[in-house]
Amino acid sequence: MPEDTAPELVKSVPRLRKALDDVRRHGKTIGFVPTMGALHEGHLSLVRAAKAECDFTVVSIYVNPTQFGPQEDFTRYPRTLEADMAALATVQTGLVFAPGNEEMYRPGHDTWVQVGAVAEVLEGACRPGHFRGVATVVLKLLNMVGPDMAYFGHKDYQQALLIRRMVEDLNVPAAIRVCPTMREADGLAMSSRNRYLSPDARRRAVSLSRSLDLAARLVRDGQASAETIAARMREVLTEEGRAQIEYVALVDPDTLQPVQEIRAPTLAAIAARIDETRLIDNTILRPY
Ligand code: AMP
Repeated sequence: MPEDTAPELVKSVPRLRKALDDVRRHGKTIGFVPTMGALHEGHLSLVRAAKAECDFTVVSIYVNPTQFGPQEDFTRYPRTLEADMAALATVQTGLVFAPGNEEMYRPGHDTWVQVGAVAEVLEGACRPGHFRGVATVVLKLLNMVGPDMAYFGHKDYQQALLIRRMVEDLNVPAAIRVCPTMREADGLAMSSRNRYLSPDARRRAVSLSRSLDLAARLVRDGQASAETIAARMREVLTEEGRAQIEYVALVDPDTLQPVQEIRAPTLAAIAARIDETRLIDNTILRPY
């Protein structure tokens, strides 16, 4: 095992470009993992995927204000740079880019990515403006880093889908990779927001993955009615999780439009609140 070495920490765009120009000059490929920090194994799995494919790995840590609604958790979102640097040292990350707000959004910033139809439903419907903020910051970061490959988690399926679309539509020269959702031993999808959960809420939060597991089992056993499956999922969420459901959706994985019958791979997606904490999770249901 190589020794843990702290990655280089860079806060300004000119310093970032200079460091990465040097990497490129040595003929190395660059893998990029954008994050909001408060890192967990899910984030680290993306870094490992980047390291497996690319010569040099860049992780960004930036809690992007423009993707949070006014009533959302921007101010209380966990910021744990020191612990994040230590975690990234264990996976030998090359460079960490952690800009301040003044570096990301210069005074007078007034250009935004207008996202299309896949951003209107599910998270887009619940969180107005969220994906405009996500797409804009991800495009800025891709332009700053200029990676060969960028890595995203299946956990945020809709986000990954619309970033793929953006990169195709706007000819961004980076390949997009989507990596599996990392879970706790009981199935709860890892998330920086899990640390908001009280011990009781943490126990009930497993109802999200349990309802997805139930959906997968029903489909495997031949159930094809989306309505029936969604009703059973809702039961698990409300009865076992005492969750407030924002949506339980069974949709086409490419268009995110609802399906009635599960005859092809279908995305099952959930957003629900356990007490005050809003959690999301998803899986692909396969009827064969
Ligand atoms: P975030 O810091 O929440 O913005 O997430 C940064 C990246 O990590 C996104 O591409 C997420 O989809 C991904 N990610 C978050 N949680 C997980 C997880 N449990 N497993 C895999 N990837 C994840």
